[in-house]
Amino acid sequence: MSLWFFESASPAHKLQWKVKREIYSVESPFQHIQVLETEQFGMALILDGIMQTTLGDEFIYHEMLALIPLLSHPDPRKVLIIGGGDGGLSREVLRIPEVQQVVMVEIDPAVVDVARRFFPHHTEALNDSRLQILFEDGASFLSRQASAEEKFDVILVDSTDPEGDGPGRFLYTPEFHADVKRALNVGGVYVQHTGAPFFNPDVVSMVSADVGKKFPVCQTYWATVPTYPGGIFTFTAGSLGPDLKKPLRQAPSECQWYTPEIHRLAFSLPPYFQKLIRNPGH
Ligand code: SAM
Repeated sequence: MSLWFFESASPAHKLQWKVKREIYSVESPFQHIQVLETEQFGMALILDGIMQTTLGDEFIYHEMLALIPLLSHPDPRKVLIIGGGDGGLSREVLRIPEVQQVVMVEIDPAVVDVARRFFPHHTEALNDSRLQILFEDGASFLSRQASAEEKFDVILVDSTDPEGDGPGRFLYTPEFHADVKRALNVGGVYVQHTGAPFFNPDVVSMVSADVGKKFPVCQTYWATVPTYPGGIFTFTAGSLGPDLKKPLRQAPSECQWYTPEIHRLAFSLPPYFQKLIRNPGH
């Protein structure tokens, strides 16, 4: 009898993956953590029933979340990652030679433990001496950080989705965006994923409306991610200067998805997406 994993993208739309075996399942103080071996995409991490990352397509999301801001910032020495417990984003960030320090603020140590055990390809950079991992809520970290001396050149939010009562919901509020802005250096850049536009259109609308008010530059871009609902995922950036549409340097070699052409096309929004963006400044 076949084993299937189902994810509800909405009350009227389910995604399903044929599963070879469930490898791990645990209830952490923050969420339900599952590791499945799927037939199509290999190892997969699921949090609270939502697909987070698979070995088969993780490079798309992680390259697009890391390289577009980091290659558009003139000197991205200090990077803050909020979330990112699977390690894939820090791996991509640490491939950029200009990056000297990365602080990753992950609320759930159990996710990092699971990633180290089952996703070695994601976590190969977690022992990089430039990386410091802090285990706490990213929103409370940033509210403290906002008044601190230490600032960041790039802030990347790699969290679970804001829907429901998961911890990701604290990272999509106007207060959070204000703290992000205060924690950035002059000319700093922040990006967070703004979900699947066909299933959660309010997220990209809400974030672009708020970020568009707070930052001189607010830009939305997108990528096709097969294992996310509708195969399309958006990212919204707030910038204190750099134009994320303009990479200033070459990407690291061996990218599996990113090219300068992909970078340029990512900002070409179909009219359907443009309607969702609540910020004429795009
Ligand atoms: N790439 C995935 C996506 O787009 O759905 C994100 C993967 S990563 C595993 C998401 C991480 O965000 C999880 O490890 C989760 O524990 C973390 N997270 C959620 N809310 C958080 C918060 N408020 N502060 C810090 N980390 C948080």
